[in-house]
This record gives sequence, C-alpha cells and structure tokens, in this order.
Amino acid sequence: MRSAYNSNPINYVCLFMIYPWQQAQWLKVQQQKRASRLPHALLMLGAEGLGKLDFANHLARSLLCSSPDDAGNACGECAACKLMTAETHPDLFILQAEERGKAIKVDDVRQLSSKLSLTSQFGGYQVAIIVDAHDMNINASNSLLKTLEEPSNETILILVSSNPQKLPVTVRSRCQVITFNIPDAQQSLSWLESQNIQQAQALLQLAHGAPLLALNLQQDDLLEHHKLLVSSLLKVAQNQPLIDLAEQLHKLPLSYMLNWLFDWIEDLIKLHQCGDSAQLVHVAQQAELKQLVSRSSLSGLYDYLDQLTKNKQLQSIPLNTQLLWEDLLLSWYKTLKRA
Ligand SMILES: [Zn+2]
Repeated sequence: MRSAYNSNPINYVCLFMIYPWQQAQWLKVQQQKRASRLPHALLMLGAEGLGKLDFANHLARSLLCSSPDDAGNACGECAACKLMTAETHPDLFILQAEERGKAIKVDDVRQLSSKLSLTSQFGGYQVAIIVDAHDMNINASNSLLKTLEEPSNETILILVSSNPQKLPVTVRSRCQVITFNIPDAQQSLSWLESQNIQQAQALLQLAHGAPLLALNLQQDDLLEHHKLLVSSLLKVAQNQPLIDLAEQLHKLPLSYMLNWLFDWIEDLIKLHQCGDSAQLVHVAQQAELKQLVSRSSLSGLYDYLDQLTKNKQLQSIPLNTQLLWEDLLLSWYKTLKRA
C-alpha cells in the first residue's frame, strides 16, 4: 500500500474534469457532500474503460481540496491540491495489488485500517481508494469489514471494481454503489473526436462501447494488431497454412488478442441466432462473417468458445504462445466446413 496519488492504468486524460458520461454520478455525490450525507463507503462499479478510477481520484481531490469550485472540482492550487499532485498528501491512501492480476493482501488492508483509525493530518477528510477491490483475497475482505462497519469520522473509502461478482456480498452490502454504464454511442464518439481520435467508431466497437478503452486501443496501435488477427482468421478459412500466421500473432498482446477472438466467435454465434438483427462487434467484417456462418455449426462455435475461455484463464501462467496460436488457428480451421 502507498499513501500516494495514483495515476490511472488507463491514460489519465482529464485531471480537473470528470468525463461527460459521469455527470449524473458526480452531481449525486456532490449533493450528498453538501448535505453532509456522503456515505463512508462508496463502491464504483462498471465495465473497464469508463473512468471509474479517474472519478474516484477526482472525488478524493474534491474532498481534500481546501477551496473546491461550485461544482465540487478541486482548485488545483491550494496546499492540499499541490500535495496530491506531488503524490504526498498524508490523508489520501491508495490500496492496490502489487501487480495486476495478483491479490490485495490482508496485511495491506490492516495497515490501511490502522492509518484510517488515526485522525487526519489536515483536519478534514481521510480518503482511501481501493483499486480493483475485487482483487482482495478473502482474508483481506474480511479484514476490511471492520473498517466498513465502524469507520472513523470523516473517513471515506472508495472501492473501485469492474468485477463485482468477485467481491463478497458482505463488502458490497456495506457500500453505497455508484454504477457507471456504457455511455450513449454518440456521446462517446463526440468525446473521442474531441481527443483527436481517428477511426473512433471502429475503436469504440472493439472496446464494447467503453470510451477510454477505445482511446487506449488507438494509443497502443492495437487496431493494427486487430486487423492482423482478422486477416489471419480469414486466411485460415481460405485454407492458407497457419504456422506463419501463428508466428506473427504470438508476438502480439495476448489478452487483447484472445478477447477479440472471443468477440469474433461470439459474432458468428449471434449471426446464427439473430441473423441480420445481430449486434456485431465486427461490423466492418459483416460480409465475411455471414459467409463463415454457413460453414460453421453452433455446437462447434460453442466448443471453440470453451477452448478460448480455458486459454483466457491460463494467461497468467507462462505459455508457449507460438504453440497456443497454432492450436487456436487449427481449431478455428476445424470449426469450419470446407468451402
Ligand atoms: Zn485545492
């Protein structure tokens, strides 16, 4: 654990503004703050890429700033704001796993709880943000319960999670939930265009409508990787040798690639089930997907999804990704009847 202001794993875009799709949630917490009815524990829930952690950071700044504006935004100028920018504010705590995918441990939660039991150094709020709170192991969650049940005055715990089913009910039920939904597509597109993002529509589809994820895809050239995946799948469908294709794919970020392959297979399943009314992720490849539907069976596609799900679960274990991609492409080949 560190008592520091944390940068967002997704690129931090607007330090002093909340995103357009978070206005309603912001108004609500600000009303509660003005009425001195802000709960001691808030749980920010929603898909990845909606800026939940940015919102939590923004709220922490709002609570600790000595002269926020009328809308509750931190001033950025006062001593507290400067300390937060320098990541040294003594009343702001960030708790997260040491590495992504690892657990938040009980000792770290105990350490946080003991710090929160002391009075604040600035005489105002003490704020703790728990990043990916679902990463707490069961002992860590149990240890947090006491702090959730008997918080000291002026303590605000902000839990952030995109995977709430992994959070114990005992934790969830002690928090006020703030939900972030996928924004309206037009709002997301306008925002992405305001960030000078090219191909915003295609990126947004691949990001399942999450604007910050779409932004991330652009910044890491992931759209090019996605194109390579799709062209490889189409080449295999045309009986082209798969070893060289696997050789190219295995060098690319596995997590994104498996997710997109999952989307690709799900698109085929949707076309089987819903025909032209199917809402596809791969809208640009609709014609190719329609041809592939006639060469696949639902049961074969579901088997392939099962295989992919297992591969996704194994990602944290060191894998021979060349062999993995050869296997995935061969299974894809076998899923299709010969043209
Ligand atoms: Zn300030």
